[in-house]
Parts: sequence; structure tokens; C-alpha cells
Amino acid sequence: MKEILIKELKRKLGEENVLINEADRALFSYDAAFGEKVLPDVVVFPKAKDELGYVIRLMNENSIPVVTRGAGTNLSGGTVPVAGGCVIVMTKMNKILEINENDLYAVVEAGVVTKQLANEVEKRGLFYPPDPGSMNISTIGGNIAENAGGLRGLKYGVTKDYVMGVRLFDIEGNDIKGGGKTVKLVTGFNIPGLMIGSEGLLGIIYEAVLKLVPKPKAAKSLLVEYDSILDACNTVSEIIASKILPSTLELLDNFTIRAVEDSEKIGLPINADALLLIEVDGHPAVVEDDYLLVKKICEKNNGKVKVAANSVERDKLWTARRKALSCLARLKPTLILEDATVPRSKIPEMMKTIQDISKKYDITIGTFGHAGDGNLHPTILTDKRDKEEFQRVEKAIDEIFEKAILLEGTLSGEHGVGLLKAKYMEMEVGKGTLNFMQKLKNGVDPNNMLNPHKMGL
Ligand SMILES: Cc1cc2nc3c(=O)[nH]c(=O)nc-3n(C[C@H](O)[C@H](O)[C@H](O)COP(=O)(O)OP(=O)(O)OC[C@H]3O[C@@H](n4cnc5c(N)ncnc54)[C@H](O)[C@@H]3O)c2cc1C
Repeated sequence: MKEILIKELKRKLGEENVLINEADRALFSYDAAFGEKVLPDVVVFPKAKDELGYVIRLMNENSIPVVTRGAGTNLSGGTVPVAGGCVIVMTKMNKILEINENDLYAVVEAGVVTKQLANEVEKRGLFYPPDPGSMNISTIGGNIAENAGGLRGLKYGVTKDYVMGVRLFDIEGNDIKGGGKTVKLVTGFNIPGLMIGSEGLLGIIYEAVLKLVPKPKAAKSLLVEYDSILDACNTVSEIIASKILPSTLELLDNFTIRAVEDSEKIGLPINADALLLIEVDGHPAVVEDDYLLVKKICEKNNGKVKVAANSVERDKLWTARRKALSCLARLKPTLILEDATVPRSKIPEMMKTIQDISKKYDITIGTFGHAGDGNLHPTILTDKRDKEEFQRVEKAIDEIFEKAILLEGTLSGEHGVGLLKAKYMEMEVGKGTLNFMQKLKNGVDPNNMLNPHKMGL
């Protein structure tokens, strides 16, 4: 990048907010996915809206591609700057601007950490439900751009269900306002909807208005142990069919249970073939009713039910689930976390397919995930330097995706497409839909400057 542009960036943002050394830039050449690394030419940290707008205009005028980055925890290669250029890191735009207890919304800058918002609203008896496993570091902007889900999707939905408004810059640096602070709003296109899941391809979100709900008054957490994972999967389908909506319904297979216990020493039953972690919440009377019915269904499917006696036990259970990914990651050099999602009644069939594929290709797959949403995370542990094994891994992934689509599911329930799933896009959405997405992209970003080469566009 030309020296004069670097000088200009440093003048506007301050020396410490512009990284040009190779060692510094290397930290922004990858994200939480397993793919290749690509160095950006420069990394910048705007602290305020006017700085952000300035950077975007400067980059656009000089035809330099821009990749927006939150915490870089995405699992699809979405922030790898494949065309080089400028990485804009949003983590210094991290103010909670308003928490409105009368109208039940919060206004936040895009770099606010998800957990920081959840904690602040909880102090006021309110609740921001989207809780990706990465919520201790992921940002609201990244959550919106990936339409992040989490453990509470079954009852409370995902990020898209909480975005009332967004403020963003388009590639020319125009300030765009979509949605707002009212529950209803139909003046024009649904711009927040367009930005949800846009993976940094359509604009750079700098602010969001997020819906809040009252905090549930009571909750009960259950750990259910199974000798057969298929019994656990059948339990999930039956709970959903019985018209109860637990706030959380998570599955861990034996491999994952062992990995978590080995690392965390929580006291999980390592001989169980599978565990379900279930939470019901709401009014105390409803919680008790739901709990009794859920317990009955679990026991009918051969599950041994244990209830968390207090908040310490409850926290332990959820730590077990939240740490699943990092505990698996310790075991092999390359971890590939997949995200194929199926209609919930198809969970038992999908689980069986994953097990068969693991045997067929002789590869290690630990499976955990949001079973209540049909969103399993088959996690392949491998070493990408072992070329022969990696070819088998690629075939296994192809077959997992093909099966998910055959079952009327999707390639990705919550992790997005980015680079890693780009080649599968047409298989799921078809040529016509992909063309439609391309026309939208061309319309708002005609020179392909915003996060180029992602999503198959
Ligand atoms: C341990 C672990 C657990 C996880 N658990 C979950 C889970 O349970 N559920 C789930 O859904 N995901 C999960 N994830 C994936 C990831 O955390 C989410 O995709 C999250 O939303 C990414 O947020 P981020 O701030 O890290 O965004 P980044 O990774 O920095 O960026 C993600 C995408 O959003 C774009 N982007 C970022 N900020 C903006 C902005 N301000 N404007 C426009 N575009 C922007 C980027 O260009 C990129 O395409 C997990 C990841 C890890 C590592």
C-alpha cells in the first residue's frame, strides 16, 4: 500500500491504530476456521464513526479491498483477507450507547462484546438471549453479519430475531440507516434483514438497535445420561413433538464427553454414550410442569435424569457444553467444526449418518451441538498436513453436506459460508438464487471491494 495512504490513516486514526509490521498483520491473516492464511496490507482500528467512514472512503477511492473484522471467531474463513487490502477491526467501537428499560431495546456500537451486553441488561432484569458459545469475545457486529445462533435458539431464536435497527456505511462511505426503535416499521426495504447474515459483503455495520426481553423468573437445568446416542436423539424429537420448548436442548456424544472431562474434571459420566443438557425456563409454575414432562420423555427413552441442585451445579453443566469445542481442539492439530442442520425430526437419521461416515472414512468425529434446533456440530479431528487422511476428510464433509440437504436441511445453521462453504452454495440454493445474490452484491458493491471472494460471490 502506498506510503501516502498509510500516513493519511495514521494521521486520522493515530499511529497505534494502524498496523503495518508483518508480525502484527499476521495476527489478522486468519480466523477461527482451519483454512489458509493471507496477509492483509494494513490493519486499522477505528474508534468512532467518523474515523470509520473516513477509512472506507479512502480505501474505496484507492480501490483497496476492505474486510471488516469483529473478534475473528467465525468458523468459515469469513475474515481471511484473500485479496489483501485493509482489515478494519471494530473492537474499539465498543460502547453500549443506551439501554432503554421502558421500550425494551439497547443501542450498541458494533464492537460491543456479546457477553458484555448480556451482563449489562441482566443487571436491569432484562435479557438479551442470543448466546453463541463464543459470546465472551464475539462482537455484536460479527453476530449480526453471521446471524449467530447459540444455546438458546430453540425457545428464543437467533440474532436475527433481536435486530430492530442497524446503522452502516456502504462501500462509498454513505451513512445508511435501516430499521429503528419501534417494534413495527415498514418504511421501505428491510435493511436490517439484508445485513443479517451478509458476512461483511454488503456494508459495514457500526451501530445496532437490539430487542430485549424480560429475564425469565425461574429455570431448571437437567443432565440426562444415555447408553445409546440414538435414544438421546429420539428424546430430542419427542420433546419437540410434545410441544414443550426448553430454552436449551444440547447433545454431547461420548467422544466429546471424554474430551471435556479430561480437560475440565467436572465429573461428567465418561461411560455414557451421550448426554443431553436441557434447561427449561419461564414462570416457576410453568418451569415445574415442563420439567416433569421433559423428565418423563427422557426416562421413557432410557435416559437417567439428574437435576442441577443449585447455581454452582448449573454453571458446571453449561461450562461443560461451552468448553466442548476448545476441549476437542486440544486433541489434534486440525479441527473442522461443521454446522449442517436438519429439520429436528431428522436428528436421529442425521446422527446415524455421521457415525456411518466416520466409520466409512476411518476418521475421528466428535459430535455435540444444538440438537433442539436440529443443529449438530460434527467436529472432525485431523491433521491437514497428512494429505492422504485429509482427502478422506474432504469426502466425509461432502457426504455430511449431501445428506443434510437430502433431509431438507442446510449447509450451515449458524456459522455462515465464508470461504470454506463457498463451493457448496449452489448445491443448496441453486443457480438462480446464487445469481440473485450476485446481483444484490453487484448493486451495492459494483467493484467487489467489500470482503471479496466470499460466499461464492
Ligand atoms: C469457541 C467458539 C464457539 C462458537 N460458538 C458459536 C455458537 O454457538 N453459535 C454461533 O452462531 N457461532 C458460534 N461461533 C462462531 C462465531 O463466534 C460467530 O460466527 C460470531 O458471530 C462471530 O463474531 P466475531 O465478532 O468474531 O466476527 P468475525 O469472526 O470477526 O467476523 C465474522 C463475519 O462478520 C463480518 N463482520 C464482522 N463485523 C462486522 C461489522 N461490524 N459489519 C459488517 N460485517 C461484519 C466479517 O467480515 C465476517 O464475515 C463460535 C466460535 C468459536 C471460536
